Amino acid sequence: MSTQLAAVRGMNDVLAGQMPAWQHLEQVTRTLFAEYGFQEMRVPIVEHTQLFKRAIGEFTDIVEKEMYTFSMSADESLTLRPEATAGIARAAITNGLLRGARLKLWTSGPMFRHERPQKGRYRQFHQIDIEALGFPGPDVDAEIIAMTARMWRRLGITRVKLKLNSLGTTESRRVYREKLVAYFQQHADVLDEDSRRRLGGNPLRILDSKNPAMQAVISGAPLLTEHLDPESREHFEGLTAMLAASNIDYVLDPRLVRGLDYYSRTVFEWVTDALGAQDAVCSGGRYDGLITQLGGEATPAVGFAMGVERIVELMQQTGATFAAPSPQVYVVIAGSRAGRAALALVERLRDELPGIAFETNAGGGNFKAQFRRADRSGAPLALVLGDDELERGVAQLKPMRQEGVQIEVPLAELAGRIPALLKSLQG
Ligand code: ATP
Ligand code: MG
Repeated sequence: MSTQLAAVRGMNDVLAGQMPAWQHLEQVTRTLFAEYGFQEMRVPIVEHTQLFKRAIGEFTDIVEKEMYTFSMSADESLTLRPEATAGIARAAITNGLLRGARLKLWTSGPMFRHERPQKGRYRQFHQIDIEALGFPGPDVDAEIIAMTARMWRRLGITRVKLKLNSLGTTESRRVYREKLVAYFQQHADVLDEDSRRRLGGNPLRILDSKNPAMQAVISGAPLLTEHLDPESREHFEGLTAMLAASNIDYVLDPRLVRGLDYYSRTVFEWVTDALGAQDAVCSGGRYDGLITQLGGEATPAVGFAMGVERIVELMQQTGATFAAPSPQVYVVIAGSRAGRAALALVERLRDELPGIAFETNAGGGNFKAQFRRADRSGAPLALVLGDDELERGVAQLKPMRQEGVQIEVPLAELAGRIPALLKSLQG
């Protein structure tokens, strides 16, 4: 195969056989989000590069090295979205949706990050994303976390746990940041290159380092939780109390800082031990400052995004199987006149029996081959239309599995007979 034809590294085809699992996840979340009052919204896949720089932060992995950026003209730099929150926040501002309003929104779709591809980490991946704009919390923080806990139950996923932290406000973080810089400067000799660079730009990100050699120095660093401002502390206590009252277990992780700069106060991550190194399946937090930072009116907000590929993998690990629905009636054709009449006949049946799935044999084949296809299709019932039968104004209905007998039915009565017959075969 020529390299021209290969898929781009880290970007996957989702084949038809995988789609039922994806659709199950989509359907469960769509239903759940509606039950909690979230409305779907869609935003472009491409935004101005500046949006992501301003929202996500200059000293983050995403902005520093993972964005797919291109330009169609000298004065316009565009980027494939690496995440959805920035686009939703931008859309809320540019469409004038805020004005003190409270918006509960969700969106989903592909995201793009130029990371090193490995199992569970891709360059095009998919997220399902929740954003609650205009809510100061912590009630809504607790509610969206409770909603995700319910989602795991509906998906039959048990190997997940909730990690929780509070980052405080930007102001309280400034004090902490100074302490952190002082601490890491004392240990400058053991910092890796990334961390040394971050020391000037965004020292909190050092805490998020995955480098094993850095873990010792990180574990000795001062804790953000000890520097929370009183309001943030109260906010966080409110959140943990509500979670406890709803029997939602969590683990406090004072080193959870998240990879995007826009977070404030609540941050959380659902992690699993079932996927190897890529353990985060749903991550989010509060971003009270983001909308002002982008030029909108001050609007407290909280949200999360989950990785569809990783969650589908977890769903499959539960042992559940997902399959596309089979047709209910497979139409077998014997003869050329029958072949010419079949489409019109089945179209009429589709009019009369909306919701029933017919698959009409296409592309010919002898009787035996067609029955083999009928069998493979999984349809419980075959409708056999032959030249003779057509002549006499009838068709045969033949159960495919049980020992049911083939019956001859006048064409005009097919629509009346098929539903009951299907019910008896499936029941
Ligand atoms: P990680 O620590 O795994 O890099 P992250 O903190 O970068 O995750 P977010 O930016 O918060 O993740 O995105 C939310 C979710 O999207 C993650 O919890 C994860 O499930 C998923 N995700 C993030 N990056 C990728 C990727 N490159 N491939 C597949 N899924 C991803
Ligand atoms: Mg990442």
